[in-house]
Amino acid sequence: MNAPLIPGAAPVAAGLHTRRCARHPGREAAARCPACTEFFCRECIVEHGGRLLCSACLARRAVAAEQRRSRFRGLRRGVRTGAGVIALWLVFYWVGALLLKVPRDVHDGAIWKKLGEGARP
Ligand SMILES: [Zn+2]
Ligand SMILES: [Zn+2]
Repeated sequence: MNAPLIPGAAPVAAGLHTRRCARHPGREAAARCPACTEFFCRECIVEHGGRLLCSACLARRAVAAEQRRSRFRGLRRGVRTGAGVIALWLVFYWVGALLLKVPRDVHDGAIWKKLGEGARP
């Protein structure tokens, strides 16, 4: 039988069937891990994103991906916090600017007297 034991696995070398699993010396190798170039049996090899990897390489990859994700999550949180602070600062700035635009008359009540006088005939 010359066909690969796992469908989709490239028949790596002609002598694959003479190879043994790196972890199970009693088992025939089914595929070669492209990451660590070791031979593994059907049980030790896992398909991941269209590639065959040994479980150790897959675990390493998963850890690396998780680290990358968490780093980005921290960055995103920092950006979000910064944006929130800026938004809050802008709101307070606008409120302050608006209050400064209000004429002094409104604050000391003189405007109401003026309006009252203007309304009188
Ligand atoms: Zn590997
Ligand atoms: Zn194995």
